[in-house]
Amino acid sequence: MKKADMLAYKNKLLAIRARLRGDVSAMAEVALRKSGMEGADNAGMPIHMAELGSDNFEQEFTLSLMETEEDTLGLIDAALSRIEGGTYGRCTQCDGTIPKARLTAIPYTPVCIKCAEAREHR
Ligand SMILES: [Zn+2]
Repeated sequence: MKKADMLAYKNKLLAIRARLRGDVSAMAEVALRKSGMEGADNAGMPIHMAELGSDNFEQEFTLSLMETEEDTLGLIDAALSRIEGGTYGRCTQCDGTIPKARLTAIPYTPVCIKCAEAREHR
């Protein structure tokens, strides 16, 4: 891969990381604030949620979203170090080339489409 291309992906990765970091801390704040409001007025909560008997439903949902974002942050950091090492754009599993279309869609993906599919079907 050309250096200029790598730099473009690097900038993209940095931008995604900055956005995710912002989102994660904002969501954590909301989740924490909610946990401190136990027994507070739940009038705004849809009835079906109340029927589930889970006051923490929304908080758990937010926290699981955050977990996914933490995973993504890990992938982004790994991709950035592959850019530093000059191996970015190569599949970490089969060493094949990851098509640019895939990198453009998911710049932090560590594997090619074939390996990603094999992983899902395992
Ligand atoms: Zn592969």
